[in-house]
Amino acid sequence: MERSESQYAGAKLAQLKAEYQVDVLADWGDEKPESAGEWKTGTWTKAELDKLHNAIALIADAMGGNETFIRNLAGVTVRKADIGSHGGEALSHRVSLSTKGTFSAWTVVHEFAHAWDANYGWKLSRALEKYAGGYTSPVLSLMMRLAGLSDSGLFKAENKPGRYGRRPGCNRAGYFYGDRPSGSNWSFNRIEDFAESVAMYMGWNRDNELSKWAYARLNRYLLPNGARDENFGIDNWANYKKYFYPENGDYTKTKRWQFVDDLINGRIQIV
Ligand SMILES: [Zn+2]
Repeated sequence: MERSESQYAGAKLAQLKAEYQVDVLADWGDEKPESAGEWKTGTWTKAELDKLHNAIALIADAMGGNETFIRNLAGVTVRKADIGSHGGEALSHRVSLSTKGTFSAWTVVHEFAHAWDANYGWKLSRALEKYAGGYTSPVLSLMMRLAGLSDSGLFKAENKPGRYGRRPGCNRAGYFYGDRPSGSNWSFNRIEDFAESVAMYMGWNRDNELSKWAYARLNRYLLPNGARDENFGIDNWANYKKYFYPENGDYTKTKRWQFVDDLINGRIQIV
């Protein structure tokens, strides 16, 4: 953030606080305000503040307004942090975005979905798991791997097509995901499932910053085995279609879309 942009940034932070109870920890400013000393640019850019604001507005819109957003999240502090190879991290009331490179609207929505889930004691992802007909069983998962029935290595994914651990239960958590998620890999579990399901829901059929990625996530399964997808690389896509691609390509037909729709519209109550 340049000094010339600091007034704009300050107004944006005040707006995020007032409209959404979101606090952004500013890492820019005067090093020594009393002597008008060196300006610290920090890692945030003006464009990133706009991107964050747009993504939050998109979530609030999908939830039916700012009041519902504030009730669901109950206040969130957003900061930039060195969080290793992840793009983002979240706990209740706290979202961290990586200082390495920038972030996407998808990452913001994904991390805010974690913060929403965390604010409800991670019960939203448990409810999704059940609703989608899934369950978590590390024992069954290990038995599948030992019996050679997994599309992963024994204790990790393999870095080659058909071995990323996408099939139900073939992941670190032993997560059997039930009805079709938009994707799965070795790191998949009910918590990641909830965050991705919220982002898919908010991008689907809406023509917003998430939509292109939401469609890309499903369209990869229309490719033949061994084909390269521009975003997701090479895999045996056709083999995975039955686990992930919804009926007629219509994501609203999935249990995950239905779950998030029910949750947002108050047909599912979780306290
Ligand atoms: Zn996540």
